[in-house]
Amino acid sequence: MSSTTVPLSSKPAAKGSSGAKTACIRTFGCQMNVHDSDRMRRMIQDAGYAEVQRYEDADLVILNTCYVRENAVDRVKGHLGELNRLRREGRVKRVALTGCIGAAEESAALSQTYHIDLVLGTHNTYELAEFVGLPTMRETYTPELPGTEGGHNAFVTIMTGCNYQCSYCIVPTVRGRMVCRAMESVLGEVERLVAGGTGYVTLLGQTVDAWRHEGKRFCDLLEAVSESAPRVWFTTSHPSNMEDRTLRAIGERDTIVKRLHLPVQSGSDRMLKVMHRGYKAERYRRKIEVFREAAPDGTLSTDIIVGHPGETEEDHEQTLRLVEDCAFDSAYIFKFSPRRGTEAASLPGTVPDAVVQRRFLEVLRQVEQNAFTRNQRKVGGEEEIYIRHGSTEDGKAIGETWSGHAVHVKTDAAPGTCVRARIESAGPHVLYAGEPATPV
Ligand code: SAM
Ligand code: SF4
Repeated sequence: MSSTTVPLSSKPAAKGSSGAKTACIRTFGCQMNVHDSDRMRRMIQDAGYAEVQRYEDADLVILNTCYVRENAVDRVKGHLGELNRLRREGRVKRVALTGCIGAAEESAALSQTYHIDLVLGTHNTYELAEFVGLPTMRETYTPELPGTEGGHNAFVTIMTGCNYQCSYCIVPTVRGRMVCRAMESVLGEVERLVAGGTGYVTLLGQTVDAWRHEGKRFCDLLEAVSESAPRVWFTTSHPSNMEDRTLRAIGERDTIVKRLHLPVQSGSDRMLKVMHRGYKAERYRRKIEVFREAAPDGTLSTDIIVGHPGETEEDHEQTLRLVEDCAFDSAYIFKFSPRRGTEAASLPGTVPDAVVQRRFLEVLRQVEQNAFTRNQRKVGGEEEIYIRHGSTEDGKAIGETWSGHAVHVKTDAAPGTCVRARIESAGPHVLYAGEPATPV
């Protein structure tokens, strides 16, 4: 789960050029926030707003935010300060703060300090409708969004919230307990999206593999979706819920991308217990063995926290060992960030910043070495590449193989189409394919 800022708006509509109202949405945080932003985007469009890129062109600015780590909050504060200045100069009229910060206690103080016009959490996003002048709407999981991310690629929420209580995590506080969406509702949405041209469906939730509904389990849902969608992926999963059956289905089903994101957080049983993760490192390793056997060419990624309170050198060594054993293809490595209201925020044993930094770099180096070695094995092979993002100025598009590897490929093929190309070289993060790239 990345922590990037994703500007959603792309139309360069200048304020007042056609007398239309304008709005700018900025998204911080994970795919779930990107998806929530798409819902809000739909609302503002329905309310007659034109989307713009820059704050100074916008009547309404919506900051859809992340609260998982303190640096995410710091970034949002920077944006709020800038918006206050633009508002004083009369260049921005209204500001809305939505998402995980909106759901946190801290939002009341932010609202006062920065004179925010509307604060919404993650459960009442639909209230934005009234704010922008639409009739009041009832909450729905995913209003029919005819294709997000440009149509060819769509996120489908299958569950919201989380029933775990990891020591460090604010998600259960800001997103609430798990609610699973009915299977028919998910399948209905997938079928509509596919009929509308979507080729790539990502099933979304904080712990998707915990999905249960009327006796059905996640694997049943995944298999059913894989029958109707041409390409399916899911994120994010919890090791305690991950069934071998699901891991085998990834290998067996042609339409499932062979890419698994399974956050481990630590390689030390002691730390896993302190974190309340509910599994031991050995169990995690066994899951990975099943995955590697089911999909030998597949890609595996994880999340790791370094510097959780009480983490010793020995704990860290065990994490390095696990990283080596699992040979992750990539990892999101996070320095522990204390979140008010979580158990870990008041635990003793703070790890000094310099130690956290060193451990961070050691884990990163280990991950990158493994990833580089694994990626080298792909060099020379020909791959079918699904184009996710069209070519940029350098003529390279960003695509993905069925094994889940990211590829830079020289082609002007449109997003959502596939090409075949030979892998010429590889770095730790990406493969590079050459020409000619023939359409599939
Ligand atoms: N539900 C997912 C899971 O259980 O693995 C993760 C959701 S969380 C939004 C994404 C990642 O952020 C976590 O896997 C964890 O590594 C990291 N994270 C969460 N809280 C954190 C904190 N307080 N400090 C540092 N990293 C944190
Ligand atoms: Fe947070 Fe743990 Fe739930 Fe993931 S499983 S969202 S890390 S509480």
